[in-house]
Amino acid sequence: MSQPTTIELDAVILGGGIAGLWTLSELTRRGMAGVLIEARALGQGQTLWSQGIIHGGLKYSLSGLLTGSARAIREMPEVWRACLAGEREPDLSGAPVRAPHCHLWQTTDLRSRAGMIGARIGLRVAPVPLAPEERPTVLRDCPGVVARLDEQVIDPGAVLSALARPLSDRIILAPPDAVRFERDPLVVAVPGARFAPRRVILCAGRASADLRRAAGLAGDAMQVRPLRMVMLRAPAARLPELNAHCVDGNRTRVTITSVIDAGARRIWQIGGEIAERGAAIDPPALLSAARAELLAVLPSVDLSPCEWSWYQADRAERATPGAKRPEDIGVIEEGPFLTAWPTKLALAPRLAERLADLCGSPQAGPWTALPAGLHHPAVALPPWDEPREWTPDSAVAPG
Ligand SMILES: Cc1cc2nc3c(=O)[nH]c(=O)nc-3n(C[C@H](O)[C@H](O)[C@H](O)COP(=O)(O)OP(=O)(O)OC[C@H]3O[C@@H](n4cnc5c(N)ncnc54)[C@H](O)[C@@H]3O)c2cc1C
Repeated sequence: MSQPTTIELDAVILGGGIAGLWTLSELTRRGMAGVLIEARALGQGQTLWSQGIIHGGLKYSLSGLLTGSARAIREMPEVWRACLAGEREPDLSGAPVRAPHCHLWQTTDLRSRAGMIGARIGLRVAPVPLAPEERPTVLRDCPGVVARLDEQVIDPGAVLSALARPLSDRIILAPPDAVRFERDPLVVAVPGARFAPRRVILCAGRASADLRRAAGLAGDAMQVRPLRMVMLRAPAARLPELNAHCVDGNRTRVTITSVIDAGARRIWQIGGEIAERGAAIDPPALLSAARAELLAVLPSVDLSPCEWSWYQADRAERATPGAKRPEDIGVIEEGPFLTAWPTKLALAPRLAERLADLCGSPQAGPWTALPAGLHHPAVALPPWDEPREWTPDSAVAPG
């Protein structure tokens, strides 16, 4: 069988999460010819499993100091807000936001108050304390301060759809074992197409480690930090909408985001410290611990109509000493290869600009249509719409 013609490109991107799609969009806007190869479904692994909060840095400055992480991320809420309003490229106005802002609430602990004050340092998005009547119902009786924080909560699936829609002819589906790298000259081959790119951009989350090995690059450049996220599900009328962080000192005890699932039930996604600790706890014990923590921070919530579940999600990042959270995006440049991690969903615009700068100016000539017969990926399902076991609250509650 004859080989397909080799197509000259400025870049091939492997991985269609927020990092890969935003980068493809940025390259296309700068006149570059790029193709994105996705192995399974867009955003599977992290983007679709995230809480979708466009952080402005508060979470990283609860100690009262403007940290490197806060400095890197503090411009992001404005960038996202403009894209979601259709006032800036990429135009994400087709992606409805889940919530225009989050709330922040505190236990009565004195150190929490210090954290709330310190958090205002140098941030574009600072907490605005609310009068009792302005609070969400479920936080009305909280003894500590309740504040509004202008961090939007996006719908990651809707954002990926909005990014992918205008680029669908450049996004192809090919399973990992069907992708081959050739060197000298550099070629990325998939069944039915051969690409000769100037740059290969790896942003496949934790699978970038395998891709790096397949491309002959050192495999120890990245780290994986696991989370075990807890989910609560109930009829929408029985569980209030809440998008909020409970902060205690400089810790985020829980971060709750709300969404309606495919069966019209309300889901609470529960992250924060409980999910960090949860990675080392077996699932039944995790659900009990999460239940106790939730009742400690939200005593008025009625859990009786709820069911519980959990999922494991691994944050894939550039390796750091001591496997700490990186303060910023991570990019490694090795010859024509760029390996990239956004570190946070919110930082995707910053990562895409950096990658596009590294790709330089367009050289591959005008875009030509890809061969017919290639497959195109769908957006992944969020964890609550995938088949999984749910446990009634009565079975999680202490006997
Ligand atoms: C539970 C959780 C909650 C989070 N909450 C937030 C939050 O509220 N706010 C925030 O800013 N950040 C949050 N994050 C971090 C954020 O989700 C990630 O930083 C971001 O989504 C990473 O995007 P990505 O595109 O690099 O990776 P991914 O979203 O993992 O995308 C990788 C893509 O590569 C594809 N792929 C895999 N293997 C291959 C292969 N061999 N070839 C081609 N493609 C491949 C996958 O199918 C996937 O589509 C959270 C993370 C987790 C885990």
